[in-house]
Amino acid sequence: MVDFELTDEQNILRETVSRFLAQEVDPIVADHERRGEFAWELLPKLKQFGYIGGLLPEQAGGFGMDYVSWAVLMELAGYHWLSMRVVLNTVNIAASLLHTHATPAQRERFLKPLLECKKRFFVGITEPNHGSNVAGMETRAVDKGDHYLINGTKLWITNGIWADFGILMAKVTPTDSHPGGITAFLVEREQAQYSGRRVHTMILQSTATSELVFEDVAVPKENVLGKVGEGLKLILTGLNYGRLNVSMGAVGAAQAALDLSIRYAKDRKQFGRPIGSFQLVQQHIVEMQCLTEAARWLGFRAAAALDRGKPARMECSIAKKVATESAFEVANHALQVHGGMGYSKDYPIERIFRDTRGGIIPEGTSEVQTLIIGREILGMSAFE
Ligand SMILES: Cc1cc2nc3c(=O)[nH]c(=O)nc-3n(C[C@H](O)[C@H](O)[C@H](O)COP(=O)(O)OP(=O)(O)OC[C@H]3O[C@@H](n4cnc5c(N)ncnc54)[C@H](O)[C@@H]3O)c2cc1C
Repeated sequence: MVDFELTDEQNILRETVSRFLAQEVDPIVADHERRGEFAWELLPKLKQFGYIGGLLPEQAGGFGMDYVSWAVLMELAGYHWLSMRVVLNTVNIAASLLHTHATPAQRERFLKPLLECKKRFFVGITEPNHGSNVAGMETRAVDKGDHYLINGTKLWITNGIWADFGILMAKVTPTDSHPGGITAFLVEREQAQYSGRRVHTMILQSTATSELVFEDVAVPKENVLGKVGEGLKLILTGLNYGRLNVSMGAVGAAQAALDLSIRYAKDRKQFGRPIGSFQLVQQHIVEMQCLTEAARWLGFRAAAALDRGKPARMECSIAKKVATESAFEVANHALQVHGGMGYSKDYPIERIFRDTRGGIIPEGTSEVQTLIIGREILGMSAFE
């Protein structure tokens, strides 16, 4: 059955959250972006709507939310502040991995403070020499009896230097008794003593993109998340969900660029008329509307497929590729409609233009999504 309507409940969620974000988030975005800081005090307030662990079952501290409602939340987050959408992404990927793979003791120690918004997390997979090729990672964990000794460097890690805890991927060196392999470790900033620095980028100024360096960092064996050697499987389970988050955030940012452009096209006058009355300006607006609507429905289709329990690999990859590329194209049209004002740091289009570019590389680049989609269509993998 194809149903393009949100339920009454989802519409109420959309309206309530929209009002909240307009009141609480819009006024603080510019200042935080300028200072390169995130407003962590927002998280407990956002939690009431399901933004923290919303997809987890209620008995696990979540909201038992469906993916389509979650997609509504992600779109609104992207509409108001893409940096906030990215922070929420990391928090929720960590929550989902912990809920699925943590022992009861790990849940108490790591998931509980995350859901109470008391601790910040990073998810560390990418390295300087291994980005798209996750399986090639070089970070090593050597079995030392009651603990592992970890050495390696992670790069582009969202909020790495701000986090209290992290889910760190490292390759356990094979021993006589175990083949080893990529494994997820729970690391604690206070205990693990790793170093880090902020990597300044053109995008997402209110997140701290980080390099983290692990030199002989001892991690106790009870901090292995899931099973030794099953880290890659663990990463793959979180991927579709992350791709849905990115695509709906991109749709939100595109809609924000479109709304600002419609307003500007009606207000700004040249040659004695609103610029929106010129056919070539209308063409920009129409392109933006078409791209945004098409991306939105691909995102909702992916969410609906996940709600039906499908793996939704193809749906999530198509949504991620189309929505992130479309959002950047929409932002480019928006900048053109705004003329010189589009470049101004005093106006949100400049930030949206930079930040929409930020969706095309993380969580699997457009090229990687293309190869995943190709594999699904042709049944042949370009990765092997
Ligand atoms: C802002 C930001 C936040 C991030 N946050 C995190 C985080 O929190 N945690 C984390 O672990 N990582 C994070 N990342 C890393 C992100 O996932 C990687 O940047 C991404 O996977 C690409 O890896 P790379 O940058 O090393 O590019 P590379 O893999 O080196 O790719 C370079 C180019 O080659 C292309 N390419 C690579 N392989 C192929 C192929 N087989 N066929 C065709 N083209 C190919 C790519 O598409 C790309 O165009 C973040 C990145 C950014 C920019």
